[in-house]
Amino acid sequence: MNAKCKNAKANFAFCILHLIERETYVTATILDGRALAMELRAAAQADITSISQKIGRAPGLAVIQVLGDAASTRYVRSIEKLCTTVGARFRLLTLPANAAQVQLDVTIDELNADPATDGILLQLPLPSHLNADAAIMRINHRKDVDGVHPINAGLLAQGRPALVPNTPAGGMELLRRNRIELRGKRAAVIGRSAIVGRPMAQLLIQADATVTICHSRTADLGAVLRECEIVCVAAGRPGLVTAEMIRPGAVVIDFGTNVAADGSLIGDVDFATVAEVAGAITPVPGGTGPVTNVMLIRNLIAAVRL
Ligand code: NAP
Repeated sequence: MNAKCKNAKANFAFCILHLIERETYVTATILDGRALAMELRAAAQADITSISQKIGRAPGLAVIQVLGDAASTRYVRSIEKLCTTVGARFRLLTLPANAAQVQLDVTIDELNADPATDGILLQLPLPSHLNADAAIMRINHRKDVDGVHPINAGLLAQGRPALVPNTPAGGMELLRRNRIELRGKRAAVIGRSAIVGRPMAQLLIQADATVTICHSRTADLGAVLRECEIVCVAAGRPGLVTAEMIRPGAVVIDFGTNVAADGSLIGDVDFATVAEVAGAITPVPGGTGPVTNVMLIRNLIAAVRL
């Protein structure tokens, strides 16, 4: 074999090794939230049809919106569209931006008492003159399809059946549907909010993962994350998680939703570099976001059954 031939053989072997390495560690599987959302929507539609036949009416979702926030209006429209698609009854109750707490209370009481309303969604944030905690506490926890009532949070913390916040429920569904093993795995959750970080950590514990919750005071975030096979990020800080913080092959769930300078939507994870190290990763957009809304319908179905 001449030198040129030997060189070509060595180069080929190097390329194959490199490809095997890429196959194993470098090219992450993309966890496609849009495809999953479509599947879940179809399943929800079938459930709603069968429940409607059983109870003689469509499951009802009521949204309370205190006017004044454009993003909130867009979200409410997307919920209305989803309800129409799956066959749920949608009702929107709007209050003026200067509504008094008592008006909000009366609206909640009316919906709590309405037998055709199975789920109540209070659009947050509320204007600063209104007490959001008091309003949430007033919602019948069995109709709390956002999973924000302290009774639902407490039930979840005790590992008991509860209406779970939609975003972490969607994250778990992405993990489950992609057959990602959680039992005995080390998981980190960045963020400790009541709506994403904390419930995500509780759900991972229920799935037998060993969980560390990180937040803005966590010392050496990278050192914690490098220990973990599962990393869930809900900080609202673009570019917070970079490739060197990620263990090769780890599964990365990015809940972050941030608007970049050019107007595009980006997550908390530096997707381009982390996707070269992770085993699987959710993109933004197209990852956790699309699944979140469908989980609301799943909670509505659970609320009817309650
Ligand atoms: P949040 O209430 O502002 O909580 C953010 C959490 O991140 C806090 O616990 C905070 O720590 C922690 N944090 C902030 N900076 C950090 C840093 N440098 N290092 C480590 N931890 C840090 O936000 P949220 O409501 O949970 O939402 C989090 C993100 O998820 C946002 O981007 C939001 O838009 C997105 N989101 C997405 C969906 C979806 O469907 N995908 C739904 C809801 C929210 P401290 O507690 O110490 O302050």
